[in-house]
Amino acid sequence: MSDCLFCNIVAKKIPAEILFENAAVLAFRDIRPAGPQHALVIPKAHVPGLRDSKPEDAAVLGLLVLAARDVAEQLGLGESGYRVVINQGRDGGQSVFHLHCHVIGGRPLAWPPG
Ligand code: 5GP
Ligand code: ZN
Repeated sequence: MSDCLFCNIVAKKIPAEILFENAAVLAFRDIRPAGPQHALVIPKAHVPGLRDSKPEDAAVLGLLVLAARDVAEQLGLGESGYRVVINQGRDGGQSVFHLHCHVIGGRPLAWPPG
């Protein structure tokens, strides 16, 4: 989708600090980090959000979560811990409508979130 911010990051038309990439997923640093470390992990194929995911997306959703785990390790968060979260829709706080996992860490994270 040419008007999607994250599709444009996948296409390298918009720069991002890329942390990990394979055929199915891309991980890069969030431009407005919510903690000392904050990465986004996205499927390369455009899916607006978790609500739009279909049974045939199960494999890529699994790859997304495993990539989030690997990126957290890469960022040195494995021992201290981190949070992996998907914001869905208005009340979930979603602002970019291309499915993404946040990986946030480097400080204690409050629960429940605001
Ligand atoms: P959401 O609010 O949809 O769950 O998360 C979208 C995330 O994308 C936000 O944390 C926001 O800071 C990040 N973001 C928005 N625009 C850009 C951008 O141009 N580059 C990068 N790297 N992150 C962005
Ligand atoms: Zn997209």
